[in-house]
Amino acid sequence: MKNTFTIAGVMGWPVAHSRSPLIHNHWIRQHQLNGAYGLFPVNPIDLEAAIRGLQALGLAGCNITIPHKVNAMACVDWVDPLARRMGAINTIVVQSDGALHGFNNDGFGFIQSLLESQPNWHANAGPIAVLGAGGAARGVVVSLLDAGATNIRLINRTHSKAQELAQAFGPAVTTVKWEAREDALTGAALLVNTTNQGMDGEPALALRLNKLPVEALVCDAVYIPLETPLLQEARLRGNSTVNGLGMLLHQARPAFQAWFGVLPDVTHALYEEVINTF
Ligand code: NAP
Repeated sequence: MKNTFTIAGVMGWPVAHSRSPLIHNHWIRQHQLNGAYGLFPVNPIDLEAAIRGLQALGLAGCNITIPHKVNAMACVDWVDPLARRMGAINTIVVQSDGALHGFNNDGFGFIQSLLESQPNWHANAGPIAVLGAGGAARGVVVSLLDAGATNIRLINRTHSKAQELAQAFGPAVTTVKWEAREDALTGAALLVNTTNQGMDGEPALALRLNKLPVEALVCDAVYIPLETPLLQEARLRGNSTVNGLGMLLHQARPAFQAWFGVLPDVTHALYEEVINTF
């Protein structure tokens, strides 16, 4: 018998900082649904047992966050091809037969956030410089390729990690050594930071923007603070900017739809509610 009270949540370690309960519970209230979204602190050694427990507990599914996104992929019964290309999952949906399906909506969130801020944006408007080669970079690069990007310059402090990604993603992705990162901004139409630099508690990203065209769009995956030093510098020199909060909010939409049956909107009220917790 199907539960009439739908429960989902987020597994991470630690997870107390996650804004996902706020986002999903906002939508549950907005749509007057019978359900709840909670926090599940899951120690890495318990990850498989916790994921397998989703079905036994009657949950609709869960989000997966740091540090479980890669390892969780091996704990589900089926992985969406897009998530497999990204090498990580951030959403699990329990199917009616109990099977666990894994998805990754980070790239969807990134592109939607970008389009929300720049509706006329095109992925092939010019070279794209992406800094970082971790989990966020994988989602961003795959979504940019799928949106039609043909020239992505991938720049990471540890060059071998950028090379690994470039090899997996094909000729549209080339790598640039960290020391040459400022040259890689020449002629770029889009710059995306997917490193953790500029995040609260981390130093600012060490990157001068003098070679970046002033017409280029600058995006940051980091969302605390909302305006990172990179975005502030870009704004002050005249570049358009997109912060990381839109990516976080938009990635939540398809997961909510899969669990609760409604595709929710990212509204001003939701933005305000999340920003008030920063
Ligand atoms: P990750 O897998 O740990 O990758 C971290 C990246 O940062 C790596 O490329 C790493 O380079 C680089 N890095 C770390 N310290 C550095 C330094 N001192 N100088 C230069 N580069 C450095 O983390 P992630 O999951 O990709 O997350 C990265 C950021 O994106 C985090 O701030 C996270 O909050 C944010 N994020 C936001 C969203 C959203 O929805 N807005 C979604 C996902 C992630 P090396 O390879 O050299 O170590």
